Amino acid sequence: MASAQKGFFTDTTLCIGCKACEVACKQWNQLPDDGFHFTGMSYDNTGHLGSSTWRHVSFVERPGTGCPSIERPAMPEAPGARAGNFSWLMMSDVCKHCERAGCLEACPTGAIVRTEFDTVYIQPDVCNGCGYCISACPFGVVDRREDDGRAWKCTLCYDRLGDGMQPACAKACPTSSIQFGDLVQLKVQAEARVEELHGKGLKEAYLYGDSAASQPGTGGLHAFFLLVDKPEVYNLPPDPEVPTLKGKRSWKSAGLAMLGLAALALGTVLLDAEVGR
Ligand code: SF4
Ligand code: SF4
Repeated sequence: MASAQKGFFTDTTLCIGCKACEVACKQWNQLPDDGFHFTGMSYDNTGHLGSSTWRHVSFVERPGTGCPSIERPAMPEAPGARAGNFSWLMMSDVCKHCERAGCLEACPTGAIVRTEFDTVYIQPDVCNGCGYCISACPFGVVDRREDDGRAWKCTLCYDRLGDGMQPACAKACPTSSIQFGDLVQLKVQAEARVEELHGKGLKEAYLYGDSAASQPGTGGLHAFFLLVDKPEVYNLPPDPEVPTLKGKRSWKSAGLAMLGLAALALGTVLLDAEVGR
C-alpha cells in the first residue's frame, strides 16, 4: 500500500561511482559549480556535501581486496605494480531527511518545514541565513552559500515529487544504487537485500538509520543506507543525535545537581541548629 512518506534507500554495494546522480542533481536543481578544484587525493573531486553539492559520491579507499567475508582468487601481480592491494567503497551521500530533524528544530524563522511527503525542505524565501541549522545537523549536511548567505541542502526534488516524478538522482542512477519510493516499502526491499547479501557471503552488510530502534538519536532516517563497513569509514557518525535530545539530558543533570545542592544546604542548616542547641 502506498504511504505518504517518501524517501531514499541507497544501496552502496551497487554504486559504481559514475556520479550520474551528482550531475543529475546539479542539472535539475540548477546548482552552481563548486569551483573545479582538483583534490589530488582520489577521484572524489567535490569532497563533501555542500550548499551546491546536494548529492556527493564518496570514494573510500581501504587496504585489502574487499570485504573479508568474500573469498577472492589471488590476483597475479602485474609487472611493475606497487606492493599492496586496496579496494574502493562508493557511497552516494545526501541529506537524510531525518524523522527528528535537528535543522528543522533549530530554525528560528520557520524556513525549514516538513512537507506532505514527510521530507525536510528549506524555503529559500524565508531563510535569513542565521546558520542555526548548520550546527544543529548531526550529519554536517546543511551549508550556507557565500554569495547569498542562505542555507541550502537537498529538497528530495520536492518540485518533481509534486508532479509525480521521482528525484533526479534516483532517475539517473544506472545501477539502482539509489532507490526512491514509499518509505515502508523501501524498508522491506532493504531488509530483503541485506538477507540476499548475507546469503551470498557478504556478512558485513547492514542497514544504517532505517529505524528509530537502530538510530534513536534521529528517530530514523528517511534517506537510509546499506553499508558494509563501520559508519565512520563512510564519514557517517556512528550514533548521531539531534541537539535537543542532548539539551534535555543537560537540563535533567542540572536539575539533579540543584536538588543535590539544596539537600546539602538543608543538611548544613539542620546540623548547625543541632550544634547550637
Ligand atoms: S540530515 Fe541534517 S539537514 Fe538533513 S534533515 Fe537531518 S538534520 Fe536536517
Ligand atoms: S548514479 Fe548510482 S552508480 Fe552512479 S555514482 Fe550515483 S549512486 Fe553510484
